[in-house]
Amino acid sequence: MPETSETNYAGIEVAQTTMRGVVISAAGDVIARREATYQPENLIGEIANLVTGLREAGPIKSVGLGIPGLVNRETDRVLISTGLPSAARDDIHSELMKATGLRFELENDANAAAYGEYKSGAGRDARDIFYIGIGEAIGGAIILDGKLWIGASGCAGEIGHITINTEGAECECGNTGCLETVASGPNIVRRARERLDRDSTSSLSKLLLEESFTAADVAREANNGDDFSVMMLERTGKSIGTAVASMINLLSIERIILGGAIMEAGDLILKPIIEEAQKRSFQPCFEATTIVAAELGADGVAIGAALLARDFGGTGVAPV
Ligand SMILES: [Zn+2]
Repeated sequence: MPETSETNYAGIEVAQTTMRGVVISAAGDVIARREATYQPENLIGEIANLVTGLREAGPIKSVGLGIPGLVNRETDRVLISTGLPSAARDDIHSELMKATGLRFELENDANAAAYGEYKSGAGRDARDIFYIGIGEAIGGAIILDGKLWIGASGCAGEIGHITINTEGAECECGNTGCLETVASGPNIVRRARERLDRDSTSSLSKLLLEESFTAADVAREANNGDDFSVMMLERTGKSIGTAVASMINLLSIERIILGGAIMEAGDLILKPIIEEAQKRSFQPCFEATTIVAAELGADGVAIGAALLARDFGGTGVAPV
């Protein structure tokens, strides 16, 4: 098949039990999308099935894969991932190429989302951005002067694991009081549940009785005017804003972009983040920074991964 016909690129986000895939044109427009759940023991096969579905939109030149873990892009190996099934970690790259016959680019999910926002979302006219992804975990990525800043270890940008409460809860990383222990999706739910035991007037109480709720439910109920949910977002926003203030003082970065389901609450979460960041940062640094919500929505990681495949596929070099 002539290469000129393969001008589309796929991007896939692998989360803990679900996958999202998109196909983008060379111009970066999304032309197809699919979602799937997967069984951990068959991750490679299920990603390959998703790719088969995405190929119905036309030939695909290469695939970007955003995963919840650290990736060495030079060796295409997964270094650390608590979110991927262990059997899939070691050789996911060559297994996927074998299963699909396509070139794959692996990247950390927050890095992929940051690249997506930088190229075609809320950061497209900025030189420097800090992206914060608030989901099952809290990830971050720094793009400085067009380049992804990964630091000496490759882990730069891990804002979810900076300490905001020295006496806080234990975190999966081994530290206590990390931002993630307060503001990740599951921790927003945990804190809400603890308070709902004392305040049963919230519309979330009904969801709790029926089965359970997610951080996206808190965002939705806040948008519907539930005072308790609004208060939960204000308190969460204060914690995120505290961490953001440190980033502003440290980097004086041009734009901070916040993504994840909780950001669906719009100003109800963004405003307390900005207010707290302003309160806790140096004024000249704060004034030079804009803090905005991500624009690419739930497909952000997949779109960013596809853009990485478009821009760096097959070159074997580090992104941006
Ligand atoms: Zn931590």
